Amino acid sequence: MTRVVELSGGVGGARLGRGLDSLDDVDLTVVVNVGDDLPIHGLYVSPDLDTMVYTLAGIEGPHGWGRADDTFIANTELARFGVDNRFQLGDLDLALKIYRSHGLAQGHTLTEVTDSVRAGFAIRSTVLPASDDPVRTMITTTDGSRLTFREYFVDRGHRDHVKKLDFEGDADANAAPGVIEAIDGADLLVIGPSNPPLSIWPILAIESIAQAVRRHPHVMAVSPLIGGRALKGPADVVMADLGLGSGSSAVVASYRGLIDTLVVDITDSDDARDIDGVNVVALETRIADRSNAATLARAILSL
Ligand code: GDP
Ligand code: CA
Repeated sequence: MTRVVELSGGVGGARLGRGLDSLDDVDLTVVVNVGDDLPIHGLYVSPDLDTMVYTLAGIEGPHGWGRADDTFIANTELARFGVDNRFQLGDLDLALKIYRSHGLAQGHTLTEVTDSVRAGFAIRSTVLPASDDPVRTMITTTDGSRLTFREYFVDRGHRDHVKKLDFEGDADANAAPGVIEAIDGADLLVIGPSNPPLSIWPILAIESIAQAVRRHPHVMAVSPLIGGRALKGPADVVMADLGLGSGSSAVVASYRGLIDTLVVDITDSDDARDIDGVNVVALETRIADRSNAATLARAILSL
């Protein structure tokens, strides 16, 4: 068994997670960003944990989030009461949010509830939130507003330019139980093809996790860029806004001092050389479908 830990945000990281999870000789633990977690209608919504669980279970929605074949009856009905229902929650998806919120209200931790959700979907791999404590990504825009993830991403469609990020609560947050042990015991630590500043930095903002990553002997990242651009979302724009540059070198700069290897897409194979001491390797990283994900996971393990 090869023990692999993946640090992940939502869609991109979950797709690689599905590939790693499908390999019989891999014992996978995913450590998932909770910086985007937010209350919706009094329910505890964890966008990245849910995307990960649904993707590992093979039931994710067509755009990577939510569930396949979901209906939105309850979400539509909320308009009757004048409720802002722009954050789309499907009916099947609501069941998970209700279950989690109830579990937390009864005093269970996010780690415990996540593990029972994992079991409910018969997922083989271990799924851990980065922390049971609140860590919330806050976006300061170039015009000086400080926005929550929901305001920046959902309400304003990530159209603002980003001046600065901070992760509220990070100084007081502990890694969730099992995270440090999993990283220390991993043969390979992979940072998934997630948005580096918005999805991975909030995990690394927890100091004990950053330390465990720094002392790990073999840390690889998979670039979320295809042809230098994010497939969806603002990864390329945010890295440029933050002065990290563009393309593969921006991903290397986002993970300075943490990674020894960066996997880039074959469309970025011009970058396959050493960038600032990091070995850059080009592979087919477009992994929307299951078989591609397994092929990429296998290729990564043999690097
Ligand atoms: P979010 O939390 O759902 O925004 O998801 P992540 O941060 O995990 O992922 C967003 C990133 O995933 C985007 O920058 C995409 O370019 C990247 N991504 C999505 N699908 C793929 C894929 O198939 N291959 C690669 N390399 N990146 C992908
Ligand atoms: Ca996310």
